[in-house]
Amino acid sequence: MNEPSASDALLNETRRKYEEERARRVGSERNRYLDSGRTAKYLSDPFTEYRDREPLNASPTALIVGAGMAGILTAVELLKRGIDDFWIVDEAGGFGGTWYWNRYPGVRCDIEAHSYLPMLEEMDYSPSERYATGKEIRNYYDLIARKYQLYDHLLVHTQVEAATWDGEASTWRIETDRDDVLCSQYLVLAVGILNRPRIPEVPGLGRFGGDSFHTSRWDFRVTGGKELGASPRLADKAVAVLGTGATGIQCIPHLADASDMLYVFQRTPSAIGPRDNHETSEKFPADRDVGWQRRRQENFAAIMRGREVERDEVQDGWTRYFAAARNTPRPPGMSDEDYRRHVELADFAIMEEHRSRIDREVDDAQVAEILKPYYRYICKRPAFHDEYLSVYNRDNVRLIDAPAGVERVTSRGVVANGVEYHVDLIVMATGFTAERTPLEVRGQFSIFGESGISLGNKWGEGVKSFLGLMTHGFPNMFFTPAPGQQAVATINHALITSVAAEFIGGSIAQLIEENIITAAPTSRAEEQWCREVREKFVDRSDVLSACTPSRANFEGDISQVEALNSNYGGGLGDYFGYKIILERLTGRLLLEQLECSWAHSTDLEMPSERANLVQANMRKGDINLCDLFIP
Ligand code: NAP
Repeated sequence: MNEPSASDALLNETRRKYEEERARRVGSERNRYLDSGRTAKYLSDPFTEYRDREPLNASPTALIVGAGMAGILTAVELLKRGIDDFWIVDEAGGFGGTWYWNRYPGVRCDIEAHSYLPMLEEMDYSPSERYATGKEIRNYYDLIARKYQLYDHLLVHTQVEAATWDGEASTWRIETDRDDVLCSQYLVLAVGILNRPRIPEVPGLGRFGGDSFHTSRWDFRVTGGKELGASPRLADKAVAVLGTGATGIQCIPHLADASDMLYVFQRTPSAIGPRDNHETSEKFPADRDVGWQRRRQENFAAIMRGREVERDEVQDGWTRYFAAARNTPRPPGMSDEDYRRHVELADFAIMEEHRSRIDREVDDAQVAEILKPYYRYICKRPAFHDEYLSVYNRDNVRLIDAPAGVERVTSRGVVANGVEYHVDLIVMATGFTAERTPLEVRGQFSIFGESGISLGNKWGEGVKSFLGLMTHGFPNMFFTPAPGQQAVATINHALITSVAAEFIGGSIAQLIEENIITAAPTSRAEEQWCREVREKFVDRSDVLSACTPSRANFEGDISQVEALNSNYGGGLGDYFGYKIILERLTGRLLLEQLECSWAHSTDLEMPSERANLVQANMRKGDINLCDLFIP
């Protein structure tokens, strides 16, 4: 028998440690969050005053649900094609989606701004820093909204309550909590992804005598100060923060500065790589030729997908660590088993780099140990920050290791590991319902298609879609890409959102131009797409089941893995293959490209006159959707 190698011993020891740490965190109790009926008090809008208005009765061409990035980009694409008869509805008091709600101190996007802020070339805008603040992003959306006069289309503080397809009128009937009734020809669901805040169901939370809020509803009346400013009212206060994910680590340094005493309750430490933020000049980046932004975005996407590129344009933690951990190169001739080991060792090296950073930055060895992430890099969304770790060298900051979460809240504070910590304020940096949350839950309303079936019912056993953008039986309805919904997920969400908005805008314009009244994917097109998604699905349950609980592994419940609830092309998805399909199917080339438009039309159900025409052309050209599935 061969002697075990040094790397075998290392792997075994690492696996043992990872399993030990995982075991401290698994358990059904961890996923107890208040249901939507009990969260109202935490979800009201602290930023914009609610104003009464008369109910609206209208029959627009399109209704877009969601005024975040996806809603804004879809609206712009409609306007660019001459469609200006639409409404945008949002429960928020303005544009911005994620960036409307998340105004906590320290909020920034950790995707570089020159890739993340959409339409930079058209807007002739240069982000001021490599990683933009939430405020800069929101102001930028506002610039777009003003340029395109989108405020004229916006219904704020309005929650859709139901959307029902009216087959006789061939329109969507949309009812809202403002008693609006909109009968719209097209419905676009741009409802967001991580948009439902999770409020932990901690016993006693309701009896807490101090203040408490979720980070996505930061209450400046409690903290004092303004966005990007100090929080003067916390100077003599003790504060508890629950959660150390991407949000927690961004607001904790600020709270440490602002408060008299800060208690950080950590369930699982994040892997925190270097941020290296800095101001950028008007001349950044060097490539400013026409089309530079899409090239830059696609360079980043290529690296994330493991494609070879001439140059890494972005060169940050995502490209350095995330891409390396997900796409570890396979040396020629290496067996599957050896490759798995090779990948695990590469992941270990990345995590060791993160763990040794903690040793360098945190003075107290015991505190440093608690902060160390013991799981594989791919198990959890990574974070990036340069000021977070050293916060634990301050006298007024205390880290509490609470792997199973906090026990309870009393009238005076938070209890963890049997100890009560007295605080004046509890900040819940406890995140949002997972990316794969069903679309109707993310939207908070039911959608009833042809024959009255709800989307929730239709997708009860898995998503069924065409392109991850439309679904059979729900005519004239588009939804924007979300992870696990059969489209593609790009780490830089702006990229897939921009591409999808172009497709949706282009398709609606084409359908209108062709006088098509209703269009939905046929069941055949949908089945083909589902087959594509299934066939390319890569089951990584074995790796994920050894992970610490996180959104990536359904909080440890691997039984929820379902091929249909994944992305086109496996993993995050094949962005480049997907884009080719969309380009071929989009009415971008309009009717000059007869094949494309016929191919597109053949997979849409349409009124009989039109269908006959299409059928006739089908017989002539015999074009099949399969021809368009380019690898
Ligand atoms: P998150 O990643 O889900 O983190 C939530 C944190 O709260 C975790 O540390 C979690 O512990 C902890 N937690 C949850 N329930 C708890 C409980 N009952 N008691 C104690 N702790 C509890 O949420 P997030 O930090 O808000 O980030 C959400 C997502 O927003 C990110 O993944 C990212 O996609 C996005 N985001 C992006 C940026 C950006 O720069 N682009 C910035 C912020 C957020 P466990 O880890 O044990 O679950």
